[in-house]
Amino acid sequence: MGYSLEGRTGTWEVVCGLEVHAQVISQSKLFSGASATYGGAPNAHVSFVDAGFPGMLPVINQECVAQAVRTGLGLKAQINLFSRFDRKNYFYADLPNGYQISQFEHPIVGTGIVEIELQDGTIKHIGITRLHLEQDAGKSMHDQHPAKSVIDLNRAGVALMEIVSEPDIRSPEEAGAYLRKIRQIVRYLGTCDGNMEEGSMRADVNVSVRKAGEEFRTRCEIKNVNSVRFVMHAVETEALRQIEVYESGGEVKQETRLYDPSKGETRSMRSKEDAHDYRYFPEPDLLPLILEQEFVDALAAKLPELPDEKRRRFCDQYGIPFYDAGVLVADQTTADFYETVAKGRDGRLVANWISGDFFAALNRTGTNIETSPVSGEALGQLLDLITDKTINGRIAKDVFEEMVETGAMPAAIVEAKGLRQVTDTGAIDDAVTKVLAENADKVAEYKSGKDKLFGFFVGQVMKGMQGKGNPALVNEAVKKQLG
Ligand code: ADP
Ligand code: MG
Repeated sequence: MGYSLEGRTGTWEVVCGLEVHAQVISQSKLFSGASATYGGAPNAHVSFVDAGFPGMLPVINQECVAQAVRTGLGLKAQINLFSRFDRKNYFYADLPNGYQISQFEHPIVGTGIVEIELQDGTIKHIGITRLHLEQDAGKSMHDQHPAKSVIDLNRAGVALMEIVSEPDIRSPEEAGAYLRKIRQIVRYLGTCDGNMEEGSMRADVNVSVRKAGEEFRTRCEIKNVNSVRFVMHAVETEALRQIEVYESGGEVKQETRLYDPSKGETRSMRSKEDAHDYRYFPEPDLLPLILEQEFVDALAAKLPELPDEKRRRFCDQYGIPFYDAGVLVADQTTADFYETVAKGRDGRLVANWISGDFFAALNRTGTNIETSPVSGEALGQLLDLITDKTINGRIAKDVFEEMVETGAMPAAIVEAKGLRQVTDTGAIDDAVTKVLAENADKVAEYKSGKDKLFGFFVGQVMKGMQGKGNPALVNEAVKKQLG
């Protein structure tokens, strides 16, 4: 899926680093008691602090701090027991204070590592430079009134985590894999919902190109890209643009660019010369943030099992291939569902059914695990019927379709429709005799060396038995009668 530069970059290498803004899941905002819930009537979730009223003082929200620490732990990163908030000064209509409280010199989380999987299955490490806490701004709207702009401050002051990567990313695919991985980790941790459509996760994409072995060259930063696909595409188009500039004898200028998904291009927003001077200084209204090691340890002890670890455990514990395990741990709900069904059953069989027929049914019916017409219990019962040889694998597919359609339990369907597998060798022998008699010409061909016909006979016998024959016994009987 997605955007590949393969074969289009010549001897140029792509270099990319992402700055991901992830909205913290918390009841209230980073420095005020106002609700941090998404949506609501405009300006319904605004305290005097968020509106920048004179004399209002910020008070740090401990839960947001805990969420940042959890995320840092999930990124296998250094947790800084000392961090500090800084004022980042700039004027914007939706920033009532005229500054954003952020962390600059002393972020709460330092260097870490994220594992991504490349298309050929190899694992690559992308370095995390830092994670810091900061406030979100409000939202200006220019389409609500013919002559005026209006401002909604509901989002103003909501906690964001900015997760900065090292420039370790080398292709659009790696950028996509990295962003998906970050999203998966924060979702597992419950620290950000990762909904890019709602803007609770967005990325600034830094791109440069170089010749192999060279130092890094000048980069451009593409602001606020809001889907995995767009990030991949932004890396692709921006890299190609820069290669073109160099190839035609030009120089890439450091600048901030905007990605336009409808045109599929990036364009210049502002050059380095008009880059902001934010005049950062330590936030005078807040003390430095000092964490106790015990606070961090307690959060670490309660951290859920993360996707990479879960994936490896699934391989070991259930004997399933690494790839299949990756599909099953894609999200926590699927992983839990798998483990519930796999308990006391053949892990491989369960994995095949979930990633095969079950997912296909969810797709087809537009449902998910929670709303699926087939519960984990029902699927488990179906697999038990296969394992204890009440039905064969072929019939199980039909029973499953019926379960999807009617929501009935498999045992009931098997009884009502008389789908039990036939293991009576007498009945099977009769069916084989009949098929061979009806196909005397083919039997002759088989005997003169056309081995492939064996499958045909088995198929015919199964058909004659409405699919209910025990496949192993049918095979055996056909072999025996053919001599
Ligand atoms: P700033 O503080 O100006 O935003 P940083 O040095 O913190 O700059 O880098 C921001 C992002 O840019 C990081 O994700 C980093 O990996 C990435 N980056 C830095 N240099 C390059 C480069 N030459 N090419 C591509 N990305 C880069
Ligand atoms: Mg930056």
